[in-house]
Amino acid sequence: MRIGHSYDLHNLLPGTGFYLGGIFIPTNFAVEAISDGDVLLHTIGEAIIGALGYGDLGQWFKPTTEKFSSTKIINHALGLLKKDGYQIINIDTTVIIDEPKLSPFREKIKANLGQLLELSDKQINLKFTTTEKNFPTIIQAQAVVLLQKL
Ligand SMILES: [Zn+2]
Repeated sequence: MRIGHSYDLHNLLPGTGFYLGGIFIPTNFAVEAISDGDVLLHTIGEAIIGALGYGDLGQWFKPTTEKFSSTKIINHALGLLKKDGYQIINIDTTVIIDEPKLSPFREKIKANLGQLLELSDKQINLKFTTTEKNFPTIIQAQAVVLLQKL
């Protein structure tokens, strides 16, 4: 078995919403990023890459001027996972943001992650918390993933 972890942070700017776990969250913020700024997909992808021992996201995704969907990161991580003959046992994540409340989106995000990662409901856990209004202009995420050899 192998374990992987990842942490990500992006700045929030005034806007109309952002992507989280591949689901659009309509709100008064946007996420500042080269990609679509999906912190959940970034950390899950990087945790898989970390568990396999392949460094960090920056080594695989060089800065570009073109916007891209973060599902590309997940698909890349899954490619490495399959190449090395591993499967995911479970993923646990935490998203930290003051506004908006994310709990209304939990089931939609989980369903989308399940589809993207080919995992069941029980294999994915999402936790949401705030910074107690200390850092209202950032979004952060953490992910831990456990793998087993096929
Ligand atoms: Zn990121």
